[in-house]
Amino acid sequence: MKSTMQDTPLSIGQLVRFGTTIHPTAEVITWGQSGPSTVTFADLGRRAAQLAHGLRSLGIDGDQRVATFMWNNAAHMEAYMAVPAMGAVLHTLNIRLFPEQLTYIAEHAEDRVILADASLLPLLAPLLPAMTTVRHLVVVGAHPSDVQAPAGIEVHDYEELLAGKPQEFDWPELDERSAAAMCYTSGTTGDPKGVVYSHRSIWLHSMQACMTDAMALAQSDTVLAIVPMFHAMSWGLPYAALMVGASLIMPDRYLQPAPLAEMIATLRPTAAAAVPTIWQALHAHLAEHPVDLSCLRDVLVGGSACPPSLMRAFHNDYGVHISQAWGMTETSPLGTSGRPDVGLSAEEEFDLRCTQGRFVAGVRARLVDDDGKELPWDGEHVGEVEVRGPWITGSYYRNDAPDKFDDGWLRTGDVGTISSGGYLRLTDRAKDIIKSGGEWISSVELENHMMEHPAVREAAVIGVPDAKWDERPLVAVVVRDGATVSAAELRGFLEPRIAHWQLPERWTFIDEVPKTSVGKYDKKRLRSSHAAGELDVVEL
Ligand code: ADP
Repeated sequence: MKSTMQDTPLSIGQLVRFGTTIHPTAEVITWGQSGPSTVTFADLGRRAAQLAHGLRSLGIDGDQRVATFMWNNAAHMEAYMAVPAMGAVLHTLNIRLFPEQLTYIAEHAEDRVILADASLLPLLAPLLPAMTTVRHLVVVGAHPSDVQAPAGIEVHDYEELLAGKPQEFDWPELDERSAAAMCYTSGTTGDPKGVVYSHRSIWLHSMQACMTDAMALAQSDTVLAIVPMFHAMSWGLPYAALMVGASLIMPDRYLQPAPLAEMIATLRPTAAAAVPTIWQALHAHLAEHPVDLSCLRDVLVGGSACPPSLMRAFHNDYGVHISQAWGMTETSPLGTSGRPDVGLSAEEEFDLRCTQGRFVAGVRARLVDDDGKELPWDGEHVGEVEVRGPWITGSYYRNDAPDKFDDGWLRTGDVGTISSGGYLRLTDRAKDIIKSGGEWISSVELENHMMEHPAVREAAVIGVPDAKWDERPLVAVVVRDGATVSAAELRGFLEPRIAHWQLPERWTFIDEVPKTSVGKYDKKRLRSSHAAGELDVVEL
């Protein structure tokens, strides 16, 4: 029997229409050199229509890729709205990738137009000759009139492209399963791989993101979106905000702790989202330059494991709860969300907050061992996490990558346990786990313990070759300003906390842990520095 329901598509056009008419007064506030500038959703809707007309005039009339090379700002939001709603495909380029990765990605996606912030032109311009499918460069913000672009690429000014265009656009009714946006993984292993989101997957993901046990977004919220719009679609915040009329604060290029603290102090966001390293840096800054954080009902952390010491510090020092979520570019990204059950003791609740959270309604998960056998959800068995669902990618764009899929499930490469209540506790990324004499050592667990030490600002643990045990942990420590501590003291600190055989013998003190393009610990770089003999290693 068929249902009697109307089969109207879940499209970004509908989301844009909804957000701009039902929540016209919600705002996008962009931080700038001379303070914040504000645009309402109604204005954004008018400008998105003008952008769509402008892109049509550049020949975008189908599913061509329109790339962005931009910070988080109102113009980027306009692209998020206009490009998919008009039927083209938004491709967010990660401005921090290596040049050869960026040109590979633009070629692979066959980007036709690039919208770029003027402040990023020095990074982009040298790459344009190798981006052979690009026909138009649209520059946002004040830029020199003599922008050099190779023959075959026309340069336009963003405001001139919009000027005089109609402020309405008849957003077409599209197949909800068609491509709306794409984002490449950052390519920590092999070439970056393209994930293509559909209108439907974005809709369903946005509904999930807004739910109370996920990000709990509402029209009363103002969200400081620190996570870049080129990192897994800013974790879905822009579309989720349109869905509920939540205002967004966009930090543009001002991602250092001082301006972020000023944004919190002056714009009073109710929620904020970023990877742990941003919160770590902000916490260190706030110790010297205190700011009232009482406006923040929620701090959303994901992208890598959140050290319990950081959660405790925000809670004890500022009364702010950190909520952890887990996901990947491939999972749109929301896979789990860390809101513990009600009615628990403070200790039990804290313990659950330190997990990666519980799987959300649209995401099915299973744990498998090395032989592909399914493992029980008992919080004990350790295996690789595989997921399936309407906003989980089922393939990569023009790249088979058969090893990433298992009978219709996405292999996440993340290893951990799942409890009977569905809480995911990640031990490590498969490639970061340390295999010592046939046993596993979790690099994340060692890092979390190390971060509890008052003299430690950052700690990253990698596996290094060992003649007897195959691999042993090497701890790279960044000491807090003004503090001193020895490797022997740190090892003594770990001793009562972990099994004796896990205690690291190798230690190194560094100025900063190298970070990836999205602000995570770059263990690949740390491993190659070690292999090249660049680290001063103390052996105990
Ligand atoms: P990249 O692969 O370049 O890091 P992604 O942002 O897509 O890009 O990374 C997804 C990965 O990030 C996950 O597979 C997982 O290893 C890690 N991750 C994300 N959220 C968490 C979390 N809360 N705790 C631990 N690891 C996380």
